[in-house]
Amino acid sequence: MSDRSILSARRITHIYLTPRGEIPALREVSLALRPGEFVCLVGPSGCGKTTLLRILAGLLRPTQGEVWLGAQPLQGPDPRIGIVFQKDSLLPWRTALENVRLPLELSGWPSLEAARQAQAWLEQVGLQGFEHAYPRELSGGMQQRVALARALAANPEILLLDEPFATLDAITRERLNEVLVDLWERQRKTVLMVTHDVQEAAWLADRVLVMSPRPGSIIAEIQVPLPRPRGADRWSHPTFLQTVWAIRQALGNGGA
Ligand code: ADP
Ligand code: MG
Repeated sequence: MSDRSILSARRITHIYLTPRGEIPALREVSLALRPGEFVCLVGPSGCGKTTLLRILAGLLRPTQGEVWLGAQPLQGPDPRIGIVFQKDSLLPWRTALENVRLPLELSGWPSLEAARQAQAWLEQVGLQGFEHAYPRELSGGMQQRVALARALAANPEILLLDEPFATLDAITRERLNEVLVDLWERQRKTVLMVTHDVQEAAWLADRVLVMSPRPGSIIAEIQVPLPRPRGADRWSHPTFLQTVWAIRQALGNGGA
């Protein structure tokens, strides 16, 4: 495994033990993220993507294998790793600002400064004016923006995104992807994003990892040699179409 990797999975196998028996979710998954790259992970529903992200975030201990953060094995959740789930991860009794302030407070920031920073992050994701709204008063897209702002407020080096915009309509999703890429281009966090949308992966990623059906393993790695910034004109770019095709082929070969 490359010394330059910031986060790596080494032969991760995971088997869930349930009252009805064992469910093998992942088989021998290895991957390495390099600092500053944007990687997308695609695979059929139920192939173990969320399981893999939880393991990479230190939230779940794999049955076999190891996760390394830089030069150290990962032992549990770490402030250098931020995660955004698909939905419903905000605290409903806290306003948008209070949700974003939380990681800052937990890391010991004085409350005035934490509020100022949280405010700045809400502006970064385009939510100025909604600081004092509760999650139930916000649309799905706005809630996911708050979740993204909260993850970024903790200033992680690595951002793990589990289909963060999947429940949203196509137009909102596209707009939030633009917000995300714009933030990534300015901040250069290392990003691993799960998506089941092949075109989204080809648009966003430097590199796409394709998983097989459950138990998931990585069956293809596809580079995306498209220049950035990648605008709406990607549709007329042969490289974009070739990449989409290559991902589809790889998914098809997975036995889906
Ligand atoms: P994906 O995110 O790719 O849809 P998941 O990682 O959520 O896949 O799930 C992979 C497999 O593991 C699925 O078959 C799912 O039913 C099973 N699974 C997920 N979480 C649990 C759990 N807590 N207990 C038992 N089985 C689980
Ligand atoms: Mg999932």
